[in-house]
Parts: sequence; C-alpha cells; structure tokens
Amino acid sequence: MKTTLKIITILLLIFLFLGVEAKQKKSKKESIKMTKNNETDKTKVIKTPEEWKKQLKPFVYNVLREKGTERPFTGEYDKFYESGTYFCAGCGHKLFDSDTKFNSGCGWPSFYAPSESENIVEIMDTSHGMTRTEIQCAHCNGHLGHVFTDGPKPTGLRYCINSASLRFEPKVEKED
Ligand SMILES: [Zn+2]
Repeated sequence: MKTTLKIITILLLIFLFLGVEAKQKKSKKESIKMTKNNETDKTKVIKTPEEWKKQLKPFVYNVLREKGTERPFTGEYDKFYESGTYFCAGCGHKLFDSDTKFNSGCGWPSFYAPSESENIVEIMDTSHGMTRTEIQCAHCNGHLGHVFTDGPKPTGLRYCINSASLRFEPKVEKED
C-alpha cells in the first residue's frame, strides 16, 4: 500500500514538472516573437516624397532622397575633425563616430567603419558606368554615399559620405 502511494506521488510530481516546463517554453517563444515585431515596427522610417521635402533642405533632399552627390571639397564636414557623433540627417539614427573619421583627400567626409553596422545597408550601384557599393541608412533608406576598399587600417574600408546626409553632434564633456 505504501509503495503504491509513493509511486502515485512520484508520478504526480513528474506530471507537474512537465506541465510547468511546457508553459515556460511557450511564453519564451511568445516573447521572442513580440520583440522581433516591435523591432521591425520601430526602426523603419517611411515617408512620402512630399513629407521629406517639407522636412529637409533642398540640397539635403537631393542627396538623401534622389541619390545626389555634393561637389567635392564643399561639404560642411569634409575638413572637419571635432569629436562627436554623426547621425542620419533624415531620421536621426547613429551612423559614424568621429574616432573613425580620417582625411582621405577625396573631397568628402571619410570614415573607416560605421558606428553601428546594423544602421547602414550596402547596395550594388552600377550607375555612371561604374560598379560601386552604395551606402544607405538602414532605417529611412536615405542615400549616404559609397564604400570603397582603399581605406586605412584596421578595416581597409573607406566610407565616402556626403556631408548633407549627416548631422553632427559634438561630444559632451562630463561635468564633475
Ligand atoms: Zn536615416
């Protein structure tokens, strides 16, 4: 009699344990799914050309939305080496750090790496009879510039970016 009770108790415990585990697995799956959905909703910035025109200065609109190129050596950030962060002029996502900026002599702001690789996308560009890799903001798909493989160490890359596509914010010194 005692043994039967023991067996029943053990079986009950096993069932309880299995039930709890199944529930936990389910809720984990659900929360992963929810985070994914939220991420895609949050990061994409979709606007009509009219909305962009209202928001952006004409020369910025031309570069970001019509893939224009500012004339070399004329951009605001070409000969500019202050410490800070460069954001997308269209949607404000972080794109480059001043630590990775270097003087390439090409006439446009040059960086050897993006600050967050998930904030930029590379697109094959065969316009003007050349094969180049275009760089766009991953969130608003604004045109930023091109990436070339003749950059300095450590990446060997040169992100050649229009000043018009960028908005600079100086580094804020911490107050003691
Ligand atoms: Zn953007």
